[in-house]
Amino acid sequence: MLATITELSSALHQGKISSYELTEYYLKRIERFDSHINSFITIAKDSALTAAKAADAQLASGQAGPLTGIPIAQKDIFCTAGLRTTCASLMLHNFIAPYDATVVSNLKRAGTVLLGKTNMDEFAMGSSNENSYFGVVHNPWGQGLVPGGSSGGSAAAVAANFIPGATGSDSGGSIRQPAALCGLTGLKPTYGRVSRYGMIAFASSLDQAGTLTKTAADAALLLTAMAGFDPNDATTAKIAVPDYSATLNESIKGIRIGLPKEYFTDLTAAMAANINTVIKEYESLGVEFIEISLPHTKLSIPAYYTIAPAECSSNLARYDGVRYGYRCQEPKNLADLYQRTRSEGFGAEVKRRIMLGTFMLAAESYEAYYLKAQQVRQLIRHDFINAFQTVDALLCPTTPAPAFQLGAKSKDPISMYLSDIFTISVNLAGLPALSMPSGFINELPVGVQLIGNYFNEGLILNLAHLYQQINSWHTIMPSLNQLEK
Ligand code: GLN
Repeated sequence: MLATITELSSALHQGKISSYELTEYYLKRIERFDSHINSFITIAKDSALTAAKAADAQLASGQAGPLTGIPIAQKDIFCTAGLRTTCASLMLHNFIAPYDATVVSNLKRAGTVLLGKTNMDEFAMGSSNENSYFGVVHNPWGQGLVPGGSSGGSAAAVAANFIPGATGSDSGGSIRQPAALCGLTGLKPTYGRVSRYGMIAFASSLDQAGTLTKTAADAALLLTAMAGFDPNDATTAKIAVPDYSATLNESIKGIRIGLPKEYFTDLTAAMAANINTVIKEYESLGVEFIEISLPHTKLSIPAYYTIAPAECSSNLARYDGVRYGYRCQEPKNLADLYQRTRSEGFGAEVKRRIMLGTFMLAAESYEAYYLKAQQVRQLIRHDFINAFQTVDALLCPTTPAPAFQLGAKSKDPISMYLSDIFTISVNLAGLPALSMPSGFINELPVGVQLIGNYFNEGLILNLAHLYQQINSWHTIMPSLNQLEK
């Protein structure tokens, strides 16, 4: 079976397969195996088959683009008109949005076929996909392992070959970390590159939509279709969207990549050996490496876990049981309606963040916590700005270790928060970054992260694509047959 979007696209254009056949193939595979993985919350079988037929007609007419007829999945954080959008929360378990998120409409316009909505951590809060109202997601690389979070359903679905590509959202690592733990390429674009309109808000100054695919070339195809200015999102940039596929093969000779020394101090021997091999391979392609410093790195987790909960407490105030979503039974009065709706409708992690954020924003703690965290955020951003004076991109690990066991960290939020150590500062700075598979440790995939300068997604995709031309890590996928034993 063909695997990548790029390969499927050429098969569709050559008439070797139809979009309808492809859609049926994936639907059958999901039906057969997803009870073991739990990567989907909603399957859109009928509308997918209808869209596939329309795509086949377009392909036949010779009017098709590179994504016409490609089945994809949307993280269940993106609003889809007429199709349930839950954000993996009881609060929205029955919510049907009246409109499509811009990411959804852009990808539909490009001809993709929406197969369903993927599982995730509730309201995108988590690093293991154990915080979903719809149950945990299992990593296809091994039963009992987390797929990473919060876009764990999208990552598991692509790794299990239920779908060739999916969207994700990344506020502190939620695309890159599950990509690393599932052996995929995950791209978080620059803040403002992709519209957040219709992407349910968690922490608005950090949230950004991106992709989970098998290759950088596939990420380039999806990003080209997804990105761009959107009058419905005032934070999107009025910067033209290049054809990211066109620059994948540019020479990277003489490109300077910085190695942030703070990211290399506590690495395990296995992770250090893994990334050192990647460095050598890039050197063979003519890349030059320079040690640089991001001195405020250690402040990124405390700053993020102040700012993100503060923004979440404000964003999630809208779920009050009045307008839409979950409502408690027979409220006695308005206060009772609010209180019981929110106590019953949100899960433990979401409530923890709302309480933390509400505290940080209270008049008496605002200056000591929220304002301080915003100041620290500027220092972190300037660390990167300084680094990009001398280098074109940065390389570092994506996660401290491969996938961990379900339950291993869920009782200890601090240790869970620490698994975001290498991804979070990128969101605080608003930069683009990509994780790609770089090998295996204890038979589990690990990844490395390429961080680019603002709006330079093209270079990190180019770097990742050329790495994937001389490596095959991204082609190794888990076998699901053992699940049926
Ligand atoms: N793991 C981080 C958190 O729990 C990041 C989540 C995200 O990127 N959406 O907040």
